[in-house]
Amino acid sequence: MMQSKEIWEIIQSHLKKKLTPQQYKTWANPLLLSENENSLEIIAPNHFIRQWISERFSKEIEALAKEHKYSKPITFETNNKKPAKHLEKKYVQKEEIISTNIAVGNISKSTGLNKNLNFENFVTGRANQLATAAAKQVSEKPGESYNPLFIYGGVGLGKTHLLQSIGNKVKTENKDLKIKYLHAEKYVTDVVKAYEGKTFDQFKKNYHSLDLLLIDDIQFIGKKNRTQEEFFYAFNTLIENKKQIIITCDSYPKEIEGVDERLRTRFSWGLTVAIEPPELEMRVAILLKKANLSKINLPEDVAFFIAKQIRSNVRELEGALNRILALSNFTKYPIDLNLAKEALKDLIAVRGRQVTIENIQKTVADYYKIKISDMVGKKRSRNFSKPRQIAMTLTRELTNLSYPEIGNYFGGRHHTTVMHACDEIEEQRLTNQSLGQDLGFLTQVLRG
Ligand code: ADP
Ligand code: MG
Repeated sequence: MMQSKEIWEIIQSHLKKKLTPQQYKTWANPLLLSENENSLEIIAPNHFIRQWISERFSKEIEALAKEHKYSKPITFETNNKKPAKHLEKKYVQKEEIISTNIAVGNISKSTGLNKNLNFENFVTGRANQLATAAAKQVSEKPGESYNPLFIYGGVGLGKTHLLQSIGNKVKTENKDLKIKYLHAEKYVTDVVKAYEGKTFDQFKKNYHSLDLLLIDDIQFIGKKNRTQEEFFYAFNTLIENKKQIIITCDSYPKEIEGVDERLRTRFSWGLTVAIEPPELEMRVAILLKKANLSKINLPEDVAFFIAKQIRSNVRELEGALNRILALSNFTKYPIDLNLAKEALKDLIAVRGRQVTIENIQKTVADYYKIKISDMVGKKRSRNFSKPRQIAMTLTRELTNLSYPEIGNYFGGRHHTTVMHACDEIEEQRLTNQSLGQDLGFLTQVLRG
């Protein structure tokens, strides 16, 4: 009878003929062979690759075996166990780390602070030097230097991180101070709740007694007069009592749309500082820092490569790093320049060629075998809500659409629903391996 090794070579060369080099690399190259008395096992690193290969080639492989008079049955397995000795060389034994995102989890109910977002984890450079210096100064003497401190800059540049860092720093040095971090959206909801529940006294007491108010994304304060009025009172009370306020925003105070003149003026009473997009060296430093925090070995040439490709913001930088990690986990190859190029190739080559939201909705709906109308519809059962959340997350990752725009495409949902969906999926993918694989697979399909 033919040896297993020989039939394996025949199978491999067959796959090579049938697949494009790219496909071969992704789907066939990670396959390994394992033989026991009764069967020959083709082992894939995960169930996607197993399924992909067996669906397409099991018949052909069977036929090849027959043709070459190989008699043992050939099965397709996934490698969940530690690989056998003779398989080991291709594998990198390491913990599965799917994401370097530290903004997940660990949020204190009372203060809204996330310990992971601190000054130690925050890389400084030309782009944020002034903002960081001001932030540090304010956190050493809250209420005594710049009040309010107003930090503005584009998305994903570290505004929230910096704001949280101030809160954490003040908290560790003054345990008794009353600190509150919140998104402006949350403030709006609180006002509405107080209004409906007639609990304005409590609401006022709450906000007016703070020592440090950290309010994020003030552009979302809303156009409602009532909210702005409440904020105006809270603002005045706190400033008069020398309590510190720190505000972040996506634009300069004078340019915030829909906000009263009197508030906008007050926003620039203290110090206004910008965060700019980071330059190359800083982007590299950020990547190395992230890798280091997650105990990932990121070679410097790879860090430079990523930093050169991704110029817009830190969040995308993290996204790129996470894609590389995902591919490394997926294929079990170590992180090097080749793997990085592979992981980012669509991003690099076809930045212009955008994935459309229609395509994402269709692909995700097909994948989970639901109808598009159910995906964008009102039904809330998990069968629909999970694919919906996944599609929203993918839209956020693969298109340039904003949260409100995405909400519109998903049956007119509120942008906070979309934000929540993305956060939830990002959080779950850290612990749920099959979700991580689904996302990896769908991303690959969508990027074509
Ligand atoms: P923004 O609030 O401006 O949209 P974030 O503060 O949410 O941005 O930052 C996006 C991501 O990038 C976060 O994961 C954050 O930790 C990270 N990040 C941003 N700037 C830096 C920096 N200078 N050093 C380290 N991480 C950063
Ligand atoms: Mg933010």
